[in-house]
Amino acid sequence: MLKEYSPYLNFYMNAYITYYCNRACKHCLTCSSPKSSKEILPLEDILFYVKEFRKNTGFVNHIVLNGGEPTSAYYHNSHSYMPTLYTELLKNKCNIELHSNAVWAMSKKADIIWQDLKILDNLEKCGICENLLDLSSDQYHNNENGIKESLKILSGPGFGNRKLWTKILSFNNDPIINRIKDYQIKKYPSLRIDYSIFNDIVKTGRAKENNIGIDIPFFEYCTEYNSFVNIWSEFIISLYPDRTASIGCDHSGKRRVSYISCDGKLKPLEQLYPELVNKYISCYQSDGCDLLSVNLLKQTLIPKHAR
Ligand code: SF4
Repeated sequence: MLKEYSPYLNFYMNAYITYYCNRACKHCLTCSSPKSSKEILPLEDILFYVKEFRKNTGFVNHIVLNGGEPTSAYYHNSHSYMPTLYTELLKNKCNIELHSNAVWAMSKKADIIWQDLKILDNLEKCGICENLLDLSSDQYHNNENGIKESLKILSGPGFGNRKLWTKILSFNNDPIINRIKDYQIKKYPSLRIDYSIFNDIVKTGRAKENNIGIDIPFFEYCTEYNSFVNIWSEFIISLYPDRTASIGCDHSGKRRVSYISCDGKLKPLEQLYPELVNKYISCYQSDGCDLLSVNLLKQTLIPKHAR
């Protein structure tokens, strides 16, 4: 299958808004919790790199807003952070995928958070974009009430599955997700929800600490591997609240490099990208990863003129 690979590379952006989370799930990949740092990824940094990436033809205008719990910005930054981010990203023709646990749906700030989410469902403002609200729910999240409340709001006035689609993420045979599915079909049968059910919890992050889930060798390089074998999927460039970046989702921190230069300015992509690639390849080699040959990775990650 790799022989079919045509040598171009696409990226999308994964912006870790914060590592803080109002939950501390036993299976959390990022080991987030209420004890995690409340640091928020600066909005200007995200917008700067969206523009930098757009100059690069390999950016697919897709951005994942991740965490921790990204809506923590309403609590630890300002009420304007998320709506400004949505509006600016939409202006830049990005598709937005927001990952959340929906615990906030039962909080005092729910109205304002829902009001802002309508920006993502608004036909005029979204242009041709399609946006995604990814809600995670399973036996570890303890968020059944938040998810049920979300189903109620999403089926009410103001939301119409126009440009904002909702996906609920969970695991095979999870007792909570089956209950939520039954509830939704009974109470809101016409609400379109996509259920994304994975095989199992991957034993990484806090799942590893708690010895739950299954081990997948070199899981941290799986996205990149899949990008080769399924050539329609893309590599990820991630930005983190401590103002570092990496290629791929790097929860251990080892693949990250600072995107701030010595003079305090944001590094342009021409400077940052080679640093990201060098770091990535050296980690790949020292981890002894054998999913793909290093030469193949180099051919894909490094433009011909710079090899
Ligand atoms: S799995 Fe999600 S909800 Fe749970 S602690 Fe991690 S980031 Fe928070």
